[in-house]
Amino acid sequence: MNILQIENLSKVYGKGETAVKALDNVSFSVKKGEFVVIIGPSGSGKSTLLHLLGGVDRPTSGKVFIDNTDLYNLNETQLAIFRRRQIGLIYQFYNLIPILTVEENITLPLLLDEHEVDKKQFNEIVEKLGLTHRLGHLPNQLSGGQQQRVSIGRALISNPAIMLADEPTGNLDSKNSEEIMELLKMFNKTFNQTLIVITHDERIALQADRVISIEDGRIAKDEVIRS
Ligand code: ADP
Ligand code: ADP
Repeated sequence: MNILQIENLSKVYGKGETAVKALDNVSFSVKKGEFVVIIGPSGSGKSTLLHLLGGVDRPTSGKVFIDNTDLYNLNETQLAIFRRRQIGLIYQFYNLIPILTVEENITLPLLLDEHEVDKKQFNEIVEKLGLTHRLGHLPNQLSGGQQQRVSIGRALISNPAIMLADEPTGNLDSKNSEEIMELLKMFNKTFNQTLIVITHDERIALQADRVISIEDGRIAKDEVIRS
């Protein structure tokens, strides 16, 4: 089953002489449970693609389907709700809310939509992330690796259709990077959680099931590494 389908996606920034075609007619699909790395040099269009998959920007043309929902057919309110429920975003700099505790940061996506927190699921996630004894701490009381684990918890709490990580280890030392990748892979393999990681790091690409390389806004290669 395709959990993500991208059809003829293009993005042009600006108009006329100064227009930049950041994405040029990109199409691909991702199966449920796949771990896909999207890799490319700086300026190749990775962030643009990430924003379009994450529902935080709108394409110039083309479509994005997540779990059969046409993302850009939703209005702003519907899109915000869909994003919180179905797209687990993980950023390089964590984007945690500094005045909220670990527990509050993790459960925020549910609370914003007045959904109840499934205590059993919450406990399982924080235990797997090794955060059980950190729930009352604020982000600035945690190391970088711990903050990234909180952001993984926040991404997972709503059982999203896809997890979308933007250079998730880009701000971490090698030991913490490995730990974060092991956790992401564990959630991918154990819970069949679809994982898409955007990176310029070859070492991360080597861990994926499939690697899509983008250059100049186009797919240059699409390779299955393991199936
Ligand atoms: P990457 O994430 O791979 O570095 P980006 O998606 O950020 O690539 O950028 C792709 C291209 O689009 C680059 O040429 C970049 O300069 C251009 N670009 C990105 N964002 C904007 C913007 N808001 N306005 C104009 N050009 C942009
Ligand atoms: P790292 O080497 O990963 O950056 P630190 O040296 O910052 O980690 O922290 C080591 C341990 O101490 C971590 O478990 C971290 O959560 C904890 N810690 C650091 N600062 C604080 C603080 N202000 N309050 C509570 N715990 C802290």
